[in-house]
Amino acid sequence: MDVLVSPAQMQHTALAWRRAGRRIGLVPTMGFLHEGHLSLVSRARAESDRVVLSLFVNPTQFGPSEDLSRYPRDFERDRQLCADAGVEILFAPTPDTVYTPDHAVFVEEPALSQRYCGASRPGHFRGVLTVVAKLFNLVQPEVAVFGQKDAQQARLIRQMGRDLNFPVRILTAPIVREPDGLAMSSRNTYLSAEERRAARCLNEALRLARRLYARGERQATVLRDRLRDAIAQHPLARLDYIAIADQDSFAPVETLMRPAIVLLAVWIGRTRLIDNALLPDNPLCNLPPDGDQEILN
Ligand code: AMP
Repeated sequence: MDVLVSPAQMQHTALAWRRAGRRIGLVPTMGFLHEGHLSLVSRARAESDRVVLSLFVNPTQFGPSEDLSRYPRDFERDRQLCADAGVEILFAPTPDTVYTPDHAVFVEEPALSQRYCGASRPGHFRGVLTVVAKLFNLVQPEVAVFGQKDAQQARLIRQMGRDLNFPVRILTAPIVREPDGLAMSSRNTYLSAEERRAARCLNEALRLARRLYARGERQATVLRDRLRDAIAQHPLARLDYIAIADQDSFAPVETLMRPAIVLLAVWIGRTRLIDNALLPDNPLCNLPPDGDQEILN
């Protein structure tokens, strides 16, 4: 495996591969890799013959009061995991080479990027779309794999791909979870033992949504209220938002006539966690089955 830090060298290598007829698969990450990231590598591996994993903690997608400076990093461990997973290039550029001092052009989507996570994190998706557009140009992928864990992000990247005519197939891979159902995330490492237990409330709430839906509940306000109450039971949890949206357009829905997505963001102490579920249930979200002990009301 090669480690490249220079964007110019990455692009040069990618263009040479393309000329030689290689199909490049890209997995963009911010590092501190876990099984979720590695599942994206497996998917890219299956769909291409050269896998590039980018490791870049993108400063433009963090707000001024967010966790950019304390975001977890362990380059040596990530390098080993990538080598073991059969990645061909680990692309780990530095911020000053990705954003030169005179960088001025950004990619913006004005509607969906302002909702849900975008409302809580102003400017976040502008930073995400811009860095993904840059990575598409630097890595020249035929396919790029993103996680359903960040469902709104994946939806916006698909839209960017269509609207700006990127010749990239954008794939979404299922959420990988811990045994108790918590969606894997580099940010889980921030949690104390007590917070880690409280963090179960996200997937418990989503499973409640799934049960209510299976029993015929179709009113978004009822679902939201029930989930809000369930999260309020946990003293360490503070709801950021719950939204119920159309699965295709991500527009908010009031009555669930078509497939929907429940989007959830919850603060556990100083850590903001997100998760989502598709209604009807879908393997992409990989929610654990419900145990007998769970009581609906
Ligand atoms: P991040 O490093 O958190 O920016 O994530 C990089 C990519 O990995 C994104 O496409 C995420 O959606 C995806 N990802 C993160 N966590 C998971 C997970 N638990 N399961 C599947 N994909 C994930």
